[in-house]
Amino acid sequence: MSLYRSLVLTVARQPWVERLVRKSPLMAPLVARFVAGESLEEALALAQALASRGFATTLDLLGEDVTAPTEAAAVTEAYAELLQTIARCGLDATISVKPTHLGLRIDPTLAHLNLERLARLAQRLGGRVEVDMEDSSTTRPTLELFADLHQIYGDHLQIALQAYLYRSERDVETAIERGWRVRLVKGAYAEPSTVAYPTKAAVDAAYRRHLEALLEYGQFVAIATHDEAILRVARGFARRIGVGPEKYEFQMLYGVRRDLQEELQRAGEPVRIYVPFGQHWYPYFTRRLAERPANLLFVLRQVLRPA
Ligand SMILES: Cc1cc2nc3c(=O)[nH]c(=O)nc-3n(C[C@H](O)[C@H](O)[C@H](O)COP(=O)(O)OP(=O)(O)OC[C@H]3O[C@@H](n4cnc5c(N)ncnc54)[C@H](O)[C@@H]3O)c2cc1C
Repeated sequence: MSLYRSLVLTVARQPWVERLVRKSPLMAPLVARFVAGESLEEALALAQALASRGFATTLDLLGEDVTAPTEAAAVTEAYAELLQTIARCGLDATISVKPTHLGLRIDPTLAHLNLERLARLAQRLGGRVEVDMEDSSTTRPTLELFADLHQIYGDHLQIALQAYLYRSERDVETAIERGWRVRLVKGAYAEPSTVAYPTKAAVDAAYRRHLEALLEYGQFVAIATHDEAILRVARGFARRIGVGPEKYEFQMLYGVRRDLQEELQRAGEPVRIYVPFGQHWYPYFTRRLAERPANLLFVLRQVLRPA
């Protein structure tokens, strides 16, 4: 599976592949399955529709790896506006930011300043900023940034940890010691076996270990997966140790396993849907394709279909 993922992500990075996918009008329905739309209005309308069905949301302005400080400033401004809109609409919604979208690759100090601006605003408005975890070249600086700001802004910040990384064994311990709210994910990037478990079985086992530790001893864990077996384990374990929704929620991606999202919600579990929007959807979209061969087959059939 991880070989499949590396292959898809490597091929998808080729500019001619991106051009082909972007220009095919036949792709629009599949993109729309995973992405709320290009505008803030579309994302808000979707978040409100989900709220009316009992789902909380996380809004993610798509984009990553900005190369100019002005771009990072514009992204920060857009996120600040988003936090204000969420508060004004009274939505149960968090925002999710990628550190490289706030300038981490240009200069970690710049990303620190930008994230701090959002954390301060979230604190003032009673909101929350979730920090996505990107590829392993950014893990250390992202955690340094988070650790620093968490000391000031506490639960107004939440960090994603990836079970596929060996280092997460230690990072989960740190999160527990320091009372960080954690979103636990398996990990979506192509990583070498020097830093990440190479098999699905090992990643799943690590996920379960971290999940049980965070449920039992952590501040709060967002169980971000569509893996039915893990969801069953999580619910059973939470019941056995007597922890409730003050300690956890389920998080799933918009467009993935809607059946499961509804099933959990109907069973009275707290479910938050991750709603991405914006013009820079291509890298996010390719990570979704890399997670499931059936998605890629659909794309190939559309793109290669004779006109
Ligand atoms: C709310 C949320 C936030 C996330 N944030 C991050 C992050 O910050 N950093 C990061 O690296 N990763 C992030 N991810 C992605 C995550 O790392 C995984 O790549 C992704 O969730 C797929 O793994 P899984 O846990 O669902 O398990 P898997 O074992 O991959 O999948 C379990 C089942 O889910 C279904 N499924 C999974 N993916 C898809 C798909 N794309 N299309 C259709 N069905 C699918 C299939 O039925 C599959 O059998 C996030 C995921 C979620 C849900």
